[in-house]
Amino acid sequence: MSDAPIEFIDALAAVLADLEPLPGEPVPLAAALGRSLAADAVAGAPVQAFDNSAMDGCALRAADTAGASAGSPVALRLVGESRAGHPAAVAVAAGEAVAISTGAMIPAGADAVVRVEDSRREGDTVLVEVEARPGLDLRRAGEDFAAGDTVLPRGAAIGPAALGALASLGLDPVPCFRRPRVAVLTSGDELRPAGASLPPGTIPDSNGHSVPALAELAGAELVSRAWAPDDAATIEAALAPALEAEVTIVCGGVSVGEHDHVKGALERLGVEQVFWRIALKPGGPTWFGRRGASLVFGLPGNPVSAMVTFLLLARPALLALGGGEPGARRTRAVLTTDYEKPAGRLHAVRCRLELSAAGWRAHPFPRQGSHVLSSMLGADCLALIPAAATRIAAGESVEIELFDGAGALAGASISS
Ligand code: AMP
Ligand code: MG
Repeated sequence: MSDAPIEFIDALAAVLADLEPLPGEPVPLAAALGRSLAADAVAGAPVQAFDNSAMDGCALRAADTAGASAGSPVALRLVGESRAGHPAAVAVAAGEAVAISTGAMIPAGADAVVRVEDSRREGDTVLVEVEARPGLDLRRAGEDFAAGDTVLPRGAAIGPAALGALASLGLDPVPCFRRPRVAVLTSGDELRPAGASLPPGTIPDSNGHSVPALAELAGAELVSRAWAPDDAATIEAALAPALEAEVTIVCGGVSVGEHDHVKGALERLGVEQVFWRIALKPGGPTWFGRRGASLVFGLPGNPVSAMVTFLLLARPALLALGGGEPGARRTRAVLTTDYEKPAGRLHAVRCRLELSAAGWRAHPFPRQGSHVLSSMLGADCLALIPAAATRIAAGESVEIELFDGAGALAGASISS
């Protein structure tokens, strides 16, 4: 295959081609946050399962309260109590009432609840001061979910509300797609572990932390994180076990330099190149290949390029393998400054998002160099400036790719 840069859209399509979610597995509900459902979650029974009270008060027959008012209350005989978790042992007959708590089961015979505030209690008698209509302050069985309802479809992301709903259905464990296993290898003679002393010319290995974190946020299980120097045999030895994972990510060493050994090592290990070089900035020298069902990404070493290419290519693959929706974080925002570039490459511009009265506004960071990680700090999204475009004027709407937990979305304040 030629090494001419391919369009970003073709690169993404090649990465996602034929990707199927991994098999499902039962996962304890308490560990299912962030996973995707491997089967529809269907209500086997109504939720809640029984008619219950919306208020603290007394359950009674609405017909008994005809004409009741504060000045002329209706006296009913209290024959029992229904507490949350402890249904009444008795039914309600004409002229009777049962004291009831919020969420407690409505006793047989009752068809309404009168709240405490609308009644007075005198010994075994309750004086009802309002006229109740049938159904007053009563929550019917199945108001949340009816039996047979598909509560969540296969592929749904399991967030806090989904966990609550799955618990309400009594589903524990819950079928989830298996998380893709990811191995990350950083390479370069200049790299040292963060915190280690730095002889002249060496730098801390920042991709070794940022990229695994991105993988975990994308739902992957990080199975290994390793480093190799710029030495062909060592890189090959480090890659061999990494390739057992569903996705291997190598950062650095994929370029054309004399000391870039990653592509050669991958080739010797039987990984077939699908593409190399994308018409994308940052992230042009990105390599992608497959060996069987395993995917291998060779990301450029520059810290911003590594993160951007991960977010635009590897993250969608991880989401697809985990049964999620690869394109779920695409939306649009208005660019707040002019942006000019030559035609030819898609530009992924790091931006801070702000919610204005007119909608989302994307502020590009002034320093966009692929080596300046500061442009990722506080960034909420990448504005995707199409390859063919040469100028986007301030105020024009562009497609954006949102980051996980985009800061502006969490703490958005509206400005005009
Ligand atoms: P490479 O892709 O190996 O040519 O590296 C490109 C640039 O990224 C060089 O300036 C490297 O020092 C830097 N770089 C490569 N890997 C890392 C890493 N893991 N952490 C920080 N910088 C890196
Ligand atoms: Mg290098």
